[in-house]
Amino acid sequence: MLYRAHLLSPEAPARLKDIPDGGLLVDGEGRIVDAGPFEAVAAAHPGAEVLDLRPHWILPGLVDLHSHLPQYECVALDGLELLPWLETHIFPAEARFRDPEVAAAAARLYFRHQLAVGTTTSVAYLTVHQEAADRAFREAERSGIRAILGKVMMDRHTPPALLEATDASLAQSEELCATWHGRDRGRLQYAFTPRFAPVCSMELMKGLSLAAQRHGAYIQTHLSENLGEIDRVRELFPEARDYTDVYASAGMLGPRTLLGHCIHLDRSERDVIRESGATMVHCPRSNAFIKSGIMPLRRWLSEGISVGLASDVGGGPSLDMWGEMAMACNASKLRWAGQRIQARRLEELEGLDAALRSRLAEALDLEAEEPVDPALAFHLATLHSARALGLEAVIGSLDAGKDADFMVVDPSRVDPAETRAILRPDEVLSRLMYRSDPAMVRAAYVRGKRCHALEA
Ligand SMILES: [Zn+2]
Repeated sequence: MLYRAHLLSPEAPARLKDIPDGGLLVDGEGRIVDAGPFEAVAAAHPGAEVLDLRPHWILPGLVDLHSHLPQYECVALDGLELLPWLETHIFPAEARFRDPEVAAAAARLYFRHQLAVGTTTSVAYLTVHQEAADRAFREAERSGIRAILGKVMMDRHTPPALLEATDASLAQSEELCATWHGRDRGRLQYAFTPRFAPVCSMELMKGLSLAAQRHGAYIQTHLSENLGEIDRVRELFPEARDYTDVYASAGMLGPRTLLGHCIHLDRSERDVIRESGATMVHCPRSNAFIKSGIMPLRRWLSEGISVGLASDVGGGPSLDMWGEMAMACNASKLRWAGQRIQARRLEELEGLDAALRSRLAEALDLEAEEPVDPALAFHLATLHSARALGLEAVIGSLDAGKDADFMVVDPSRVDPAETRAILRPDEVLSRLMYRSDPAMVRAAYVRGKRCHALEA
């Protein structure tokens, strides 16, 4: 099938491939055969059936690199920080997944809603329940979405309803991995999923690291999200140099490791993460919601660290990655403005000698990096996240040889005054992010198969 539409795809962090009258040719296997100006693609492939989608746009499907399927039902209940929020809202919701029917119904809805906002690759935490995890994989398989999922592992300091024995946790996770990792030519994959260090024993973390290596599977966990959490890790692992060292000692850090949040990290921790090839996952709406802080995203990127983007439902309020991209931009602007204001106050403070002034500036972290812009946010949610998953050759952009994971978007839906002004591609992205609306995503395709279509 040859799709005719405006094509927009990331090439590099600051570069977009923009083809106003484009052609995207997809073969019967769901692979992109050609992508370019429509006339050229049509001439090179005479006889291809044409589906004219103009005036809509085709963009690559989005990657949500970190979220919690069972938490979808309790998003947006404000008021608490991480640890009490988990106890009050999250653990009771996750306990309900001991009923596989609850889990299956929740998974059906969740993947449907992700596809409806243009997310075609879902990386998600499940619960500790093996049967529920199996049902979630089955629903992902049926929905057509690309998914990397994992049963949560927690073997200590956990409410009794969710507490696992170490051996059982490892055995069940490995069984799920053996069943699902690589299913449907790699559309479904497994991630070993220790929730975070405060609820995991070192034995569990070492065991799952070896299992993930044996299977070539992913590892996903949380790191340095909240100050209370960091204090708890210090108490529980007094022998570790810092929080990152807990995971490093367990052998958990590597190129297939996804570390959610990574807000409060000193230089030596960042060096360890960069050298391991692990990816930090930025979840700005969740970080605001549970009062965790703002990741210095540009700074981490400039240090050569891999950073992706994610909704972190239920810390984040919605599965809409467009809204998440907008928040990544806005959070970075708030951080930038806050640092400038503090720097100005310090400048105006009298009676400080130069040495004390510079120590204060350093302690207050006043070096302001440039805010994130929409083109960078789009890159993080597409090509960069694909690279973080080792799937750069498969997804993340509209290029020949990749799988046809894409969405059809109607930018007129976010044009407030219906001016139909011609905007630059980065301006269109900006509108889609800051004014995201479910009605703008007309359809979502994974491997050329339409998995979501908006009713006309
Ligand atoms: Zn999370």
